[in-house]
Amino acid sequence: MGRIQLKQVQKKFGDVEVIPPLDLEIEEGEFVVFVGPSGCGKSTLLRLIAGLEDTTSGNIEIDGADATDLPPAKRGLAMVFQSYALYPHMSVRKNIAFPMKMAKMPEDEQNRRIESAAKALNLTDYLDRKPGQLSGGQRQRVAIGRAIVREPAAFLFDEPLSNLDAALRVGMRMEIGELHKKLETTMIYVTHDQVEAMTMADKIVVLQAGVIEQVGSPLELYRTPRNKFVAGFIGSPK
Ligand code: ADP
Ligand code: MG
Repeated sequence: MGRIQLKQVQKKFGDVEVIPPLDLEIEEGEFVVFVGPSGCGKSTLLRLIAGLEDTTSGNIEIDGADATDLPPAKRGLAMVFQSYALYPHMSVRKNIAFPMKMAKMPEDEQNRRIESAAKALNLTDYLDRKPGQLSGGQRQRVAIGRAIVREPAAFLFDEPLSNLDAALRVGMRMEIGELHKKLETTMIYVTHDQVEAMTMADKIVVLQAGVIEQVGSPLELYRTPRNKFVAGFIGSPK
């Protein structure tokens, strides 16, 4: 579960081609980072995978099935939003339960998933608190919890740490890395931060103006950057 294939996926906004047709393969269980400067199309690419934007042309396959025309809720993926997307008046438990409640899941199953997510995220002691009574890192973990309970085939993160201070960001990177090890679920993580990309990724996708400049492991990109842009962006000595 969690294999995602993009085949000649193109995106235009009006007459502007933001993403020329591209191919990309994401393997089951991989931690993939989309990295590139602001405006290069990282969020658009992630939103196309999530189904929050329609492709102009091309196909998206999830676990071998064509998902190009499926609405977001039917893709089996979970987008993790920044922690400010939490409901301030609801407890942590209710925030995490929200997507399951919407899906009318039986309550005992909801509770089982909440306990399991809380355990994975070290939130067990905080389930009855409101978001305002939590630290920034705990709030971000609640936002992740809300994705975990859907048991998605893949998690999609769009710069989830950009609102946190530098020290907290380092801690949250490690937490997300640990979570990936525990769950072994595909994760696609968007960032403009080279350090984040190099430290977190199994596979990095370097984007510039909607074009994939290179795909490879952090070490591959560092040792054999394909061009000056990749070398400069990754901070390779070449
Ligand atoms: P990134 O996430 O890498 O910063 P985006 O994917 O947000 O980049 O944006 C890529 C390009 O697409 C930018 O030029 C942006 O202005 C444009 N764009 C994004 N969303 C829209 C939209 N809804 N309508 C028109 N242009 C858009
Ligand atoms: Mg973006």
